[in-house]
Amino acid sequence: MPSEFELIARYFTRPTPRTVLGVGDDGAIVRVSPGMELVISTDMLVAGTHFLGNGQTPADPEDLGWKTLAVNVSDMAAMGAEPRWALLAVALPEATAAFEAWISAFARGLFDCAGSFGVELIGGDTTRGPLNLCPTIFGEVPQGQALLRSGASPGDEIWVSGTPGLAALGLAHLQGRCMLSEPALTDCLAALARPQPRVALGIALRGLASAAIDVSDGLLADLGHILERSAVAATVQFDRLPGAALAACADQALAQDCLLGGGDDYELVFTAAPGHHARIDALARELHLTLTAIGSIRPVGGETLNLEDAQGRAVPILRRGFDHFAGTP
Ligand code: ADP
Ligand code: MG
Repeated sequence: MPSEFELIARYFTRPTPRTVLGVGDDGAIVRVSPGMELVISTDMLVAGTHFLGNGQTPADPEDLGWKTLAVNVSDMAAMGAEPRWALLAVALPEATAAFEAWISAFARGLFDCAGSFGVELIGGDTTRGPLNLCPTIFGEVPQGQALLRSGASPGDEIWVSGTPGLAALGLAHLQGRCMLSEPALTDCLAALARPQPRVALGIALRGLASAAIDVSDGLLADLGHILERSAVAATVQFDRLPGAALAACADQALAQDCLLGGGDDYELVFTAAPGHHARIDALARELHLTLTAIGSIRPVGGETLNLEDAQGRAVPILRRGFDHFAGTP
């Protein structure tokens, strides 16, 4: 049975060339680049709440390793920061041979994500207990240029990256709530298991976006956070939303629910002045990433968030996503 220190050395220690001092001492040392600010975030994954319980996913430990770090990297993307360093606090239930295989696969997925986004794991904490995974991530952004939730103003356009709703549809399929067929099935399962944080987009949006957030709780719910922090309201055009989720699933009520309220996509929702529209279109081509203008910001008054069809008629928001959103002012 490996000791705590053997586990750390075996599975959580990799070279950290961009770090002054990594794993092995009482603390890590990093040098922040001149003119940059540190952006810091943490996101905990608890067995039974976020995975491994009740048909939750990813059950595959390598995917879970990827996702554990990816959801933290996504917070850096939403801030317009370049992810640089991470700490990993873990509680592990046991160190049996079978569980070691699990840890090994988890670490592989985690370092796969770290390598993809230039993140170095520089420390953490390892204790015995019910499985719990808690990375802390550090990123850099030029002073004063971080993207905040609070900067949206009336007249701004609302944009979303990618095709929100696919991850939630993938989960619905795994839970037997719908039957997806290829090729949509592959796309939905990939979106769920291996979310791709939009780091390059976040960095490119510095100075361009007035506000940004990553979609972890659902498109409308997370847009709601921008509205709240910016003290504005919004109108979203349903017909302009990227339709991949609606095309993927015959059950249109479920597809709409996933599109508007499904979590786990880790796309970015952002706002920008209409004068930046052409530059953002160009950015989409550069990044090979769909960017869609889905509505506009308006002053507060009446409903905080309206969903409209092409004729300007209200589209009822059916389920979960809106319930989620209803909790915010
Ligand atoms: P301390 O005794 O000072 O609390 P630890 O024994 O907890 O230190 O950790 C020893 C070293 O291993 C430290 O550098 C710590 O940051 C690192 N470490 C512990 N757990 C992890 C982990 N899960 N991933 C990466 N580094 C870790
Ligand atoms: Mg110590």
